[in-house]
Amino acid sequence: MSDARLREEICRYGRSLFERGLTPGSSGNISLRLEDGGWLVTPTNASLGFLDPARISRLDGEGRLLSGDKPTKEIPLHTALYDTRGSARAIVHLHSTHAVALTMLPEIDPRAALPPMTPYYLMRAGETALVPYYRPGDPAVADAIRGLAGKYSSVLLANHGPVVAGDSLEAAVFATEELEETAKLYLLLRNLNPRYLSPAQVNDLTKTFGLDLPSHHDHGHD
Ligand SMILES: [Zn+2]
Repeated sequence: MSDARLREEICRYGRSLFERGLTPGSSGNISLRLEDGGWLVTPTNASLGFLDPARISRLDGEGRLLSGDKPTKEIPLHTALYDTRGSARAIVHLHSTHAVALTMLPEIDPRAALPPMTPYYLMRAGETALVPYYRPGDPAVADAIRGLAGKYSSVLLANHGPVVAGDSLEAAVFATEELEETAKLYLLLRNLNPRYLSPAQVNDLTKTFGLDLPSHHDHGHD
């Protein structure tokens, strides 16, 4: 896909996410890894609803700005996930309400922030890790993401929001949407004793669709 098409895709998905209320104000950011090792990244203080393709930050492989506006300050979140997940081509970070709410609940398992509620959550977002709260811009958040060793494609930052990788921008956006909707389902059903997918049903999905779930690594093909 051409550079121009990729820029348009970032703007189109950004506007769609913003218009559905999935990230308010100038929160949230999107990045794409290019064939030459460089990136396209949404600029700092830019609303995802009103991106200009010509002003998207173009970085080289070392993170130096080649053209466009200054990139988002949250770039360390993106680099940490790209560095540890070789297959990642795109990353979406949002401040989406239900996913943020989930991070503040006392019972959340930091290695499986959501139970296996639906097949599409597992198929698109996989399992989700939760990392502790860090002040925005604190470089320690990147270390926390690196500490997950690339096992998770979806990570929640406590009191902040999700960071989700995909092998395309569409995959990263769809996974972020599944994560948000699953967090919403969890909040709707919390304390109602819901029936989640059973271990056998999760195993069946893992086998049938070749899912790479961190909790199944012991039984996987690697
Ligand atoms: Zn953020």
